[in-house]
Amino acid sequence: MNYSVEQIIALAPDAASAKAGRSLATASKWQNVGQDERAVWGECQGSGAKPYQTVIDLSEPAFKCSCPSRKFPCKHALGLFLLIANQPAAGNTTVPAWAAEWLGKRDEQTQRRNEAAKKADEVPDEATLARRASQKAKRSLDREAKVVAGLKELELWLRDLLRHGLASAQTRTFDYWEQMAARLIDAGFDVRCCDLYPEIFRLDGVDIHRGNLDAELPFGDQSFDYVTCLEGLEHIENPQQAMREFARVLKPGGHLFVSVPNILNIEERLKWLLHGYTSHFKPISRAASESSIGAGRWHPRDCSPNG
Ligand SMILES: [Zn+2]
Repeated sequence: MNYSVEQIIALAPDAASAKAGRSLATASKWQNVGQDERAVWGECQGSGAKPYQTVIDLSEPAFKCSCPSRKFPCKHALGLFLLIANQPAAGNTTVPAWAAEWLGKRDEQTQRRNEAAKKADEVPDEATLARRASQKAKRSLDREAKVVAGLKELELWLRDLLRHGLASAQTRTFDYWEQMAARLIDAGFDVRCCDLYPEIFRLDGVDIHRGNLDAELPFGDQSFDYVTCLEGLEHIENPQQAMREFARVLKPGGHLFVSVPNILNIEERLKWLLHGYTSHFKPISRAASESSIGAGRWHPRDCSPNG
């Protein structure tokens, strides 16, 4: 064995362990001590019913002991190590099963580490390098093609939306928006949404952020290529603030799609002239309001001029 007492003591985690280790370095405290070229093992009677089983892999050295100590190496490992350094265990070279198991596991680990290191060290040949480069190029081309296809689809979708009049956006079902968002995600886009009440907004695979169009949106500067806000601005207190936020979160050259109800066309002007209100901004009839209250969509509150 190539370890001196000084070297072994230097391995102790603290002075108390070194002292305890020294006091265990006597043959009377140990049984079934054995040794071969690679390892040392032995059993030390502690306070429990079963003796502690201690084994040392001399190649590193590395230690294993069945005692509950959190010190490493524990006093038993130090004691056994010192004992063997002073007085080699001649004769007994049959590794007991419990020690062999641990040593075997260590061999497997070493083998795995060596294989990994070998792999990392291996310089790939030219054919491998060329294959990797072409795979990488293909992946990036595939992704680009996917994104371009997604963009084309988005453009078609937006044109279709415009053709039908953005006002039709209001009558679309939720699925209509969800399908486009899902398609964009498939095409490699990163889709994000926000709502004043994210708890009532659902879209599989997309984080819905809490956001208020009257305040700062929960996104960083220049984070989006596209921003859409359909039939939203007419509901808020400060549309200018929302537009400033859209400009902030869009990348330079990005696109913004906004729709609001058009009340300047001839139909709406005539409605205004004849009825005093337009299609989108009109009083609610008593019957409609009562059915909404009945359905639990509205919750009336008493109010008076004094609040
Ligand atoms: Zn121990």
